[in-house]
Amino acid sequence: MFTIEPMVVAYGPHREKSRFTYMHNAGVAIDIPYVSWLIRGKDLNVLVDVGCSAADYGEHIRPKDRELVHVGQVFADVVDVKPITGHLADRGLSPRDIDVVVLSHLDWDHCMTVEPFSESAFYVQRKEWETTPSHEMFATSFAPKEHYDKIAGMDLRLLDGSHQIADGLDLVLSPGHTFGGQSAIVTTSEGAFVIAGMCVLKENFYPSEEESEHFKVIPPGGHTDLFEAYDTMLRLKEIGGDNVLPLHMTEAWDITRIGSPIGA
Ligand SMILES: [Zn+2]
Repeated sequence: MFTIEPMVVAYGPHREKSRFTYMHNAGVAIDIPYVSWLIRGKDLNVLVDVGCSAADYGEHIRPKDRELVHVGQVFADVVDVKPITGHLADRGLSPRDIDVVVLSHLDWDHCMTVEPFSESAFYVQRKEWETTPSHEMFATSFAPKEHYDKIAGMDLRLLDGSHQIADGLDLVLSPGHTFGGQSAIVTTSEGAFVIAGMCVLKENFYPSEEESEHFKVIPPGGHTDLFEAYDTMLRLKEIGGDNVLPLHMTEAWDITRIGSPIGA
């Protein structure tokens, strides 16, 4: 049994919502949380993603002389909420207590804050590693090459598909948003939860009745394969049911913990 604690480290203000919900919500603005997911079990602490900070964004992502622009949208700068080390300290943990860092995929907003975790094992799908950056259309989704070199210098373990981290904590390949995204299936006292490794919202997995007439799920606005993303999402929903946790779900702000603490 594990617990899941979403830790919002920063957010992207006023993002175009259709970047997340394909063919839905054009012209709607939404604040997107950047989340590191803490999974705690007996003698095992795991993070899914490490997120990013305003400083990372300013130094490595945003052009030096102007704001970032992609498909005509000017990106408001990233705003810090609380550094990941602060979230861990609130829980009596330090980065040294994190055994494993799972990177769901290698878009910059998920993988910037790696430096504190020099003693952790990093799990990335080999397919993701070998296909990042994937395409010039998504150039603004990736960190500069030096950052991936930094990740290469960590204790990096490349995975070929499904991998069991521990009994009740599994990783599965979940392509479509990126070529080699991965998702975590986490057993908690409240049932199995899926942390879905793609840049989407709750609405993507649970569309309204009106939306779901043709879309059982709504694929991510950015994708390497639209139909594969759709099929992946249906597969994750089959595993997680009502318990799919998308990486950018705005509800992450309000969730303290899923599952009863071990030994409680
Ligand atoms: Zn993202």
